[in-house]
Amino acid sequence: MISEAMAGVSALKTALDMTKALKDINDATIRNSAVIDLQEKILAAREAQTALLERIGELEKQLAGFEKWEAEKENYQLTKIYDDTFAYARKPDAGGTIPPHYICANCYENRKKLILQRSDAAHVTCSECNSRLRFDSDMARRFNRPIKYGPGSP
Ligand SMILES: [Zn+2]
Repeated sequence: MISEAMAGVSALKTALDMTKALKDINDATIRNSAVIDLQEKILAAREAQTALLERIGELEKQLAGFEKWEAEKENYQLTKIYDDTFAYARKPDAGGTIPPHYICANCYENRKKLILQRSDAAHVTCSECNSRLRFDSDMARRFNRPIKYGPGSP
């Protein structure tokens, strides 16, 4: 990106120098050749500017993604889900109507929110990085069966 900016500045400086020199050229052929060179320099500067604008757009999009993640990650806290096994749990006070869930700690570090899904009776899995975590503790059983059935329920 810096090299693109420097190329644009260099092309503009060269074009400016050429414009100053044009007034001293009396020979029409030499002057026409200089004008063509000048147009090429202006075109190069425009191309560099276009590349810079595209890059700025990409960086603005990336920044918006980072800002969104910085806000979203505050809704989660690192939680032990089994012996020496951790995931990020949605904080109870995070609000909204989203049900309690865990997200992958590996993907969290890469600014991605991947909900861990049960893959069998004792494990949850991340669909992004394929992490497979043990999750069959009392806490897991409570987490997966939050509805208490009263007497007479099946
Ligand atoms: Zn993951």
